[in-house]
Formats: sequence, C-alpha cells, structure tokens
Amino acid sequence: MTAPANTPGKDEHKPSNFLRGIIERDLEAGTYAQRRFAGTPGDAAHHAAGPLDPARIRTRFPPEPNGYLHVGHAKSICLNFGLARDYGGVCHMRFDDTNPEKEEQEYVDSILDAVQWLGFGWEANGFSHLYYASNYFDFMYRAAEYLIEAGLAYVDEQTPEEMRANRGDFTTPGKDSPFRARSPQENLARFREMRDGKHPDGAMVLRAKIDMASPNINMRDPAIYRIKHATHHNTGDAWCIYPMYTFAHPIEDALERITHSLCTLEFEDQRPFYDWVLERLAEGGLIAHPLPRQYEFARLNLTYVVTSKRKLAQLVNEGHVDGWDDPRMPTIVGLRRRGYTPEALQLFAERIGVSKADSWIDYSTLDIALRDDLEGKAARAMAVLDPVKLKLTNWAEVFGSAGHLESCSAPAHPARPELGKREFRLGAEVWIEREDFMEQPPKGYHRLYPGNKARLKYGYVVECTGCDKDEAGNVTAVLARLIPDTKSGTPGADSVKVKGVITWVGATDGVAAEVRLYDRLFTEAQPDAGGRDFKTVLNPDSKKVVTAYVEPSLAQASPDTRFQFERHGYFVADRKDHSAASPVFNKITGLKDSWAK
Ligand code: ATP
Ligand code: MG
Repeated sequence: MTAPANTPGKDEHKPSNFLRGIIERDLEAGTYAQRRFAGTPGDAAHHAAGPLDPARIRTRFPPEPNGYLHVGHAKSICLNFGLARDYGGVCHMRFDDTNPEKEEQEYVDSILDAVQWLGFGWEANGFSHLYYASNYFDFMYRAAEYLIEAGLAYVDEQTPEEMRANRGDFTTPGKDSPFRARSPQENLARFREMRDGKHPDGAMVLRAKIDMASPNINMRDPAIYRIKHATHHNTGDAWCIYPMYTFAHPIEDALERITHSLCTLEFEDQRPFYDWVLERLAEGGLIAHPLPRQYEFARLNLTYVVTSKRKLAQLVNEGHVDGWDDPRMPTIVGLRRRGYTPEALQLFAERIGVSKADSWIDYSTLDIALRDDLEGKAARAMAVLDPVKLKLTNWAEVFGSAGHLESCSAPAHPARPELGKREFRLGAEVWIEREDFMEQPPKGYHRLYPGNKARLKYGYVVECTGCDKDEAGNVTAVLARLIPDTKSGTPGADSVKVKGVITWVGATDGVAAEVRLYDRLFTEAQPDAGGRDFKTVLNPDSKKVVTAYVEPSLAQASPDTRFQFERHGYFVADRKDHSAASPVFNKITGLKDSWAK
C-alpha cells in the first residue's frame, strides 16, 4: 500500500462540491491546524502527548462488516479516501463492528480487498490506519460511566413497549421515565450489574438524559447501551453489553481524531446527538477539541440497480444470480469480475460528485465512465459471437494449396502503436457473424450477399457467390471467391472499392471460447421504488452464454485482461473461469450507450 499522494490544497481538475468547500474553508481558517495526533487512536491525554498531526484532515470509511460492498460504498470510498488524498489528509479504514451478531471475517477480508482494488490504502506517515471500533469498547464503557456520574445518563427499566409509548411522536412530547430521576450512584450500580451479566437481554438499557420534549425525537433520551448476551468476533465473551451505533460512532471519530465525518443523509437527524455526545465528553476532559464534525451527503441510487445489502443477499440466496461476484451484481466483487476498472469507478464517483439532495443517477453515467477508461486501454481483437462459416472457394486456385494460411496483422490499439501488433491467419475457411450474410438484403446493406464484394478486415476483398443450406433452409455456410492482390496494407488494397468491412476469425487458428453476454439485471429503472418487490422485475435475459470464436492470442490472455472485440464492445477474460485450455470472456459493455432512456 502506498501513502496517499500529498498534494495539499485545491485540485483544479476536480469538480467542486459542498464538501470540498467546507474542507477548503477549514484549511484556510486553520480549524484543525493545532490538532495533536499520537499516531494511534486514544483519549484526550493520549493525543495531548503526541505531536501536531501531520495530516491536514482526517476522514474515515466505516463499513459494518456484515456483507459485501456495493457501488454505493464505492462512492463513499472514493469520497472519503479521495478527499483525504486531495487535501493532504489521511483516511482511516475502520470496521464499525460494535454489533456482535452479524459480523464475519469473510466480509472483513472482502472489504479490505475492495478498498485496495479501488486504488486506496490506509498506511500513512508510518502508521497503518486500519481500525476496529470494537477495540474502543473499554473507552466507550468509561464514557458511559462518566455520563452517569455527571448525571447525564440513567438506567431505564421500562419495557420496550412502555419506552416506545412514552417517547411521543412528532406532535406529542415524550413522557419522562419513572426511572429518570435515579441518583448517579444507583445508576452506576445498575449499569455495572448490566455489565456483569446480572440481567437478561432487554431487561434495561442505559439512556442519555437529554430532553423528553425535544422536537427532535432522536434527542428524547436515546439509548446508549443495551444488554446482549452474544459472542463478538473480536472481543469474544468479554462483554454482554454493547453500545448503540449512535453513541459509538461519534466516539470512534473522536478517538481517531477525525475532522470531517461524512455520512449519508439519513443520519442528519442524528447530528444533534452526535454533537451532544462529543461536547459532553469533551467537557469531562475525555476527548480533546477540536471535535469531529458530521456532514451528510445523498446516498447513491443508480438506475437498474438495487443497493441494499439485504436485497443483494436475497438475490444471492434465492439463486437469481450466481453468487456475490456474479458479473451482473452491483457489488464491487461483481463489478470487478464483470470487467469494470477501479479507474472507471473513480471517474464515475468524481463525475457524480456529492450533493445534499437524493436523486437517481442514470446507469449510463457509470457506463460512459467505464467506456471512457477502457477506450484508451483495451487492446483490440476480433471475435465472432454468432458464427457461420465462410468458404473461400477459389483459395487453392489463388494460393496453390487448400491448406495455405495467409498471415495477417493488425494494430493492438489504433491510437497506441507502442502496444505493437497482433498476428492471425486467414485460410480457406473463416468464421463470420451470421448477420453478415443475407440472401436478400434490404437497401443499404453492404455486407455479404450474392454478387456483392466486401473486405475481410485486415485481409482480402471477397465476392459473395451464394450459400449452402440444410434441409430446413438454414444457412450452413456462406460461399465467396477471394479477389487476389487486394490484401490490406499492400499496394493493391484499394484497387477494388467496397462499402462493407467484415470481422472474422480464421477457422484453422481461431479458438472456441465461452462468451457470457450480460445485460441489465432488472427491466425497470427503479427496481425497488415505492416498495415494489424488485424480484418481480428481474430481466429473464440478463445472461446469455454463447460459443464464440476468437483470435488465437486471446486464449493466452491472463484472467482480468480486457479487450475491445471489434464492433461488439468490451470483454474481459473471466477472473475465475478463464484458462488457455478453455477461454471464458464476459461482456463488460457495448461500444455505444444502451442505457439512456
Ligand atoms: P446497506 O444499507 O447496503 O446495508 P450501509 O449503509 O448499512 O449499507 P455500511 O457498511 O454501514 O453500509 O456503510 C459504510 C459506509 O458506506 C457508510 O458511511 C455509508 O454511509 C456508506 N454508504 C452505504 N451505502 C451507500 C450509498 N448507496 N451511497 C453512498 N454511500 C453509501
Ligand atoms: Mg448499515
């Protein structure tokens, strides 16, 4: 992993957005300039003993390790790591693993892999900023005891139903719990009983003591600790009480000296509580000023895609797709297997920017970013996806032997001569696309039909003479005569003018390959809008598998190599299934936008 490139300040090439504006103002005002950072997370005393923070800002990406990341997370990763990189800061990779029940190592591994694949790392200034929120349980517990002692938290033994009823609603203020007036000593004793496993799950909770009449319901004495007799993947059975997310999150940010804590809009109403926790703990000297600040941005909604871990899990578990890394999945592992590049996802994230208003982003925005990235990178190749044989009936006559093979070559990339040339051979029989022959062509059709001439790309001009058919009338082979001295790149190439150019693969050295043609997974742009069951709008034709013929060199391609199959679009050698012995390619996307409405 490499340290983020530290180019402090504004990057003129990046479109501005409200978060960049906030950070630039903070940098100008020196809001965080005097902040100390001890190199590792810790409380006020820990950081006070450290040097001035070499990072100008600190952000964090804090997933819960309870599933595979999706394209929405990619936006958040690019945003948090990207802002840190652009402003001379550091982004922390933090697992928000405070909930004991749902987390697994498999997810931790895949998340780390996804972040690195996207091009980011968490090593900076000689430290690895990879953190687990569960390592802060001791501090969180201490913070809770501090709040109790300060008269700012109490143990509530109302039933969950009573608590709900007494919380009130938008129009009715809440009612104080009968346990609200307990003394700090009583509360502390009760809380320690909770910690010591003296009470069953749900018997009581620790609540912040704020204001049961607050217009913001989140401020009506929110719960901060609950009893949960569950084994945690990191702390085992050390704890049977766990902090609530809304209490844990600001503490995690403070211990890590985060400056800008970016989250999605649904947390906007939680911000007053986020600030309340931090301010109270700072008053108690547990954490240091300046405090982290939370900013909210709109989550990514992408057309033809669902971005909820729960819904994605349904697709996998009910067999609608072939696993988390199915190339149709919007998971990062799925996009990667499909052939998306990290650069395309970064470009996409930059182009969509961030805003404070929820909206749907058109899938074509992602598709265009992908094509913009692949265009300059992907080597070209010919492939025939719906093959029919073309027989050159005068081959032996022209070349003196039916078995003669004529070497042809083409640039690997039309705009990048440094990538060299690719070689393949033309013989008496080649594969062409079935649609490149018609017995009775419509007007404007310039490919093969009896009497018409067309060029085999990078090869010779041929003149179609007819076709062979089976008993049912299906075309089994197309027949043509090669016109001598018309080879591409030779002086005679232009002696015969043609309007049609045909892609082909030699029948002798072409290689059969499995090609998986993918299309959108849903038929509706907003598959789960308005509470619709997204499984009722699955596209039955989202995957089609064909046996194609490809240029010989493609069999040797290493997995994950991307190509532009001329005229067909972009394809990638499948990272799991491709081998020289049995080549497998996934269609990444077409050459033109097929997503626009
Ligand atoms: P899901 O709803 O799919 O379970 P989540 O929000 O619970 O997602 P977390 O693992 O808690 O997932 O999120 C990690 C980070 O990614 C959070 O900061 C969250 O705000 C961000 N994030 C998740 N989904 C999106 C999205 N669609 N667009 C932008 N950011 C997102
Ligand atoms: Mg979540």
